Amino acid sequence: MGRTARLSADEAGLAEAAAILQRGGLVAFPTETVYGLGADATQAEAVAGIYAAKERPSFNPLISHLESFEAAKVQGTFDDTARKLAEAFWPGPLTLVVPVAPTCTISDLARAGLDSVGLRVPAHPLAHALLKATGRPVAAPSANRSGRVSPTDADHVLSDLDGRIDAVVEGGASDVGVESTIVACLGGAPRLLRPGGVPREAIEALIGQTLESGLEGGEKNPLAPGMLASHYAPRAQVRLNATAIEAGEAILLFGPERMQGSEQAKAALNLSKNGDLKEAAAHLFSYLRQLDASGAQTIAVAPIPETGLGDAINDRLRRAAAER
Ligand code: AMP
Ligand code: MG
Repeated sequence: MGRTARLSADEAGLAEAAAILQRGGLVAFPTETVYGLGADATQAEAVAGIYAAKERPSFNPLISHLESFEAAKVQGTFDDTARKLAEAFWPGPLTLVVPVAPTCTISDLARAGLDSVGLRVPAHPLAHALLKATGRPVAAPSANRSGRVSPTDADHVLSDLDGRIDAVVEGGASDVGVESTIVACLGGAPRLLRPGGVPREAIEALIGQTLESGLEGGEKNPLAPGMLASHYAPRAQVRLNATAIEAGEAILLFGPERMQGSEQAKAALNLSKNGDLKEAAAHLFSYLRQLDASGAQTIAVAPIPETGLGDAINDRLRRAAAER
């Protein structure tokens, strides 16, 4: 990638930013909380680019930004509480984690393989105009390298990401500077996952109940299966760094090499035949799901290099392997 373009905060600049997002590029843009690093949430390879640019060592679910509540309803299923919160606080610094809608187009990678989705309608006029011009959900964590502070202006963004992303929209300073409040509405009582720009008290006053904390369902308010965890894990066992497979296993390959015994596999998928880590990241969650659905007891995973996006891929696979 060449140098990062600075785009002006006018119609021409935003049209260019939208075009870059639509073709799978990365654009940092201002929101009322912090500058976000955006990618088209429906294109898994574009989302993988976010992790690569930030050098994030693990995949966590990203917040997808939308131009309106109407657009958000295509992606997620809103119960009464979620609808009330959306109507009261959107546009604004509130993220709602809700079950995926049947019409959801947000990629598995942006959801980190979960059956839920994090959605927000930002209030910043430039963010809103960009989302409208793009016409797609835009996944956008903070536009900084992993471990650094969240940026509140375009110069902060460039000091971390110059040459690593396609463009930044120069929109002046963000005015909240704290991240969005995250509330999960997944059936049962709503839960506060992260405090942020919208105060807890304002939310509790609106819904007339106290917010529970954390994602785990607890006994009083169990969550629907698949919503319970904060990260995706297949039902099958996961065996890492496999160089040969046993009868009845499913295999997750990487790169051009075949695996010994693969004729006997219950199912086989290759994350990337060319050994491209970005392509592999984009396929990771959907391939794990497909192999899990084959009914195999174990998914044998070929070695994946521990470089670049390989770190985040291996992190997720190790968690899946440790799960039972
Ligand atoms: P950010 O780094 O500001 O983009 O926020 C990402 C955070 O949003 C994640 O670390 C989660 O806490 C939360 N989040 C987004 N989507 C989901 C989801 N589907 N399920 C649970 N938490 C989510
Ligand atoms: Mg951050």
